[in-house]
Amino acid sequence: MNPVKVTLFNNLTRKKEEFTPLVSGEVKFYSCGPTTYDFLHVGNARALVVGDLIHRVLRTLGYKVTFTRNFTDVDDRIIDRAKELNVSPLDHADRFVKECQIDMEHLGMMPATYTPKVSETMKEIIVMIEDLIKNGFAYVINGEVLYHVPLFKDYGKLSKAQLESLQHGIRVEVDGHKKHPSDFVLWKPTKTNEAASWESPWGFGRPGWHIECSAMAKKFLGKSIDIHHGGVDLMFPHHENEIAQSEAANGREFCHHWCHNEFLNFGAEKMSKSLGNVVTIRQFVEKFSGQVLRQVLISVHYRSKMDWSDDVIEKGINDVERIHQFVVKFNKDKNSNLQVKKRDNLSEVENVLSLMKAELANDFNVPGALGHFFGAIRFYNREFNSERPDKLISKIFEEIIKFTQESTGLISVNPEKTLSDLEVMKKRLSGGTSTDSQIEELITKRKEAKKNKDFATADKIRNELISMGVTLKDNPDGSITWSYTGSS
Ligand code: AMP
Ligand code: ZN
Repeated sequence: MNPVKVTLFNNLTRKKEEFTPLVSGEVKFYSCGPTTYDFLHVGNARALVVGDLIHRVLRTLGYKVTFTRNFTDVDDRIIDRAKELNVSPLDHADRFVKECQIDMEHLGMMPATYTPKVSETMKEIIVMIEDLIKNGFAYVINGEVLYHVPLFKDYGKLSKAQLESLQHGIRVEVDGHKKHPSDFVLWKPTKTNEAASWESPWGFGRPGWHIECSAMAKKFLGKSIDIHHGGVDLMFPHHENEIAQSEAANGREFCHHWCHNEFLNFGAEKMSKSLGNVVTIRQFVEKFSGQVLRQVLISVHYRSKMDWSDDVIEKGINDVERIHQFVVKFNKDKNSNLQVKKRDNLSEVENVLSLMKAELANDFNVPGALGHFFGAIRFYNREFNSERPDKLISKIFEEIIKFTQESTGLISVNPEKTLSDLEVMKKRLSGGTSTDSQIEELITKRKEAKKNKDFATADKIRNELISMGVTLKDNPDGSITWSYTGSS
């Protein structure tokens, strides 16, 4: 299939642009991955899920995507934490790489093509620093290698606003050994035999933070790549420095399309470890589920700020339920003996797939695409209450479900299990220790009260059920079904 034309907001130009990959139909995509010093929080999960969405959406729209997402397993935070715990930094980092992989599975992420670690890319990092020295962009002082920022004429082309303050900096007294205050570390010396240090032409040491992504992108994707992604906080200095390093070392444009996801905030502040206002992915999964977290994070466009609240979690739970109730019903209808309903006017659902594609091709508008998907679900529930759809319309819905799964990863392979897990979760959240038979008994009592026109008692029982987290549904045939909706 010919890839669908995509328009992307490019942070390099601050404009929406037609996306033109270097090789037609193929995308080289790099996303900055997590630093593995502790459990990740749900803000980190937003960055991971957005990277996964870019990967999935482009694939579903017909592109061949080579996706590299790194693990930062060499970092001062890792070294400090390992020291506190009296373990080796690499063992500590490795433990949290594994925890992060478990989180990614909970989040239903598609594996990236390459997931390199800094500790395994040391050779390429050293070669790139050597190239930078050779090309005159880096200098060595006492075993430390620094990038000399003023020599890179395009410095500031991504972050814009910072360029001004940088120019002010030129007149500022240069501190310590740096030739310019904006010069940044490529390699820092360590004591011989210090944990997490490697031999290099400049003595024992370890790389600065930024060089890893330039080296990994080059190793796994080549000198020039198509899309680079990360959280908006990484634009400066991390991504600006990646550009400076890669372009000075390779002599060509590093990346043309830069995508940044906005932050997940906690009240007025960003969620971050240093502020101590974090909910870890693992805590969330234990209380709710990875599927609910994915749904919550996907429901807001990647370039919009997002607030963490009970309301968004509740909406996430309801959306997961709505989607999976529909999928279960559809699968049952397909195979049932219900009367077949033929429809003349299919345009309402026939268009859904192309509308979803158009939304996704418009700067990855996943919430827009989901709006059409939910529209299709409403149509289905309205039209096929007691009749099943004919073959043609079943085929259309099958394609819609398949497309939604591939592009968003929101539909479980076992929708029945998802629904039963949701029931258990809601029951737990409602704090209800009541058993199903106790609830059935109350419902029978309420029915009797209603039959005897004792509406006061019927209402009292209804309220009691609500306080237990139970919602009643009066069906047209007079029967009553109930479900847990959690505490109010
Ligand atoms: P770190 O482990 O700090 O390097 O962060 C890993 C990724 O998570 C980066 O792309 C960050 O931009 C992103 N990130 C960190 N906190 C948040 C947040 N509150 N909302 C969205 N993304 C975040
Ligand atoms: Zn990076």
